[in-house]
Amino acid sequence: MRVTDVLDFFARCPACGYAAQATAVERERADGRTDATRRIGCALPCGWQDEAQTVYTIDGTPGVR
Ligand SMILES: [Zn+2]
Repeated sequence: MRVTDVLDFFARCPACGYAAQATAVERERADGRTDATRRIGCALPCGWQDEAQTVYTIDGTPGVR
Protein backbone atom coordinates (compact mmCIF):
# COMPACT_ATOMS: atom_id res chain seq x y z
CA MET A 1 0.00 0.00 0.00
CA ARG A 2 1.29 3.43 -0.92
CA VAL A 3 -0.04 6.81 0.13
CA THR A 4 0.81 9.91 -1.88
CA ASP A 5 -0.31 13.50 -1.63
CA VAL A 6 -2.32 14.82 -4.55
CA LEU A 7 -0.55 18.06 -5.35
CA ASP A 8 -2.88 19.40 -8.04
CA PHE A 9 -5.93 19.46 -5.83
CA PHE A 10 -7.27 22.88 -4.94
CA ALA A 11 -10.80 22.39 -3.69
CA ARG A 12 -12.07 24.03 -0.54
CA CYS A 13 -13.71 22.48 2.46
CA PRO A 14 -17.49 22.98 2.16
CA ALA A 15 -17.82 23.07 5.92
CA CYS A 16 -15.33 25.80 6.90
CA GLY A 17 -13.98 27.17 3.58
CA TYR A 18 -10.37 26.28 4.28
CA ALA A 19 -8.27 24.45 1.69
CA ALA A 20 -8.96 20.77 1.46
CA GLN A 21 -6.34 18.10 1.02
CA ALA A 22 -6.38 15.00 -1.09
CA THR A 23 -4.32 11.89 -0.76
CA ALA A 24 -4.18 8.96 -3.12
CA VAL A 25 -3.97 5.49 -1.64
CA GLU A 26 -2.69 2.80 -3.95
CA ARG A 27 -3.44 -0.74 -2.99
CA GLU A 28 -2.10 -3.79 -4.72
CA ARG A 29 -4.56 -6.54 -5.28
CA ALA A 30 -3.93 -10.25 -5.35
CA ASP A 31 -4.31 -10.39 -9.13
CA GLY A 32 -1.43 -7.95 -9.64
CA ARG A 33 -3.52 -4.88 -10.41
CA THR A 34 -3.37 -1.73 -8.33
CA ASP A 35 -6.42 0.20 -7.23
CA ALA A 36 -6.00 3.87 -6.45
CA THR A 37 -8.44 5.54 -4.11
CA ARG A 38 -8.60 9.27 -3.53
CA ARG A 39 -9.44 10.55 -0.10
CA ILE A 40 -10.39 14.15 0.40
CA GLY A 41 -10.53 15.86 3.74
CA CYS A 42 -10.20 19.26 5.33
CA ALA A 43 -6.68 20.43 6.18
CA LEU A 44 -8.05 21.83 9.41
CA PRO A 45 -9.41 19.53 12.09
CA CYS A 46 -13.01 20.52 11.43
CA GLY A 47 -13.78 16.93 10.70
CA TRP A 48 -15.06 17.22 7.15
CA GLN A 49 -14.17 14.35 4.88
CA ASP A 50 -15.47 13.40 1.50
CA GLU A 51 -16.24 9.86 0.55
CA ALA A 52 -13.30 7.94 -0.85
CA GLN A 53 -13.50 7.45 -4.58
CA THR A 54 -11.72 4.92 -6.70
CA VAL A 55 -9.98 6.97 -9.37
CA TYR A 56 -8.09 4.47 -11.44
CA THR A 57 -6.89 0.91 -11.68
CA ILE A 58 -3.38 0.18 -12.85
CA ASP A 59 -2.99 -2.98 -14.85
CA GLY A 60 0.28 -4.20 -13.47
CA THR A 61 0.68 -7.51 -15.17
CA PRO A 62 4.11 -8.78 -14.15
CA GLY A 63 6.59 -9.34 -16.93
CA VAL A 64 4.68 -7.42 -19.60
CA ARG A 65 6.21 -4.20 -20.94
ZN1 LIG B 1 -13.03 22.30 7.14
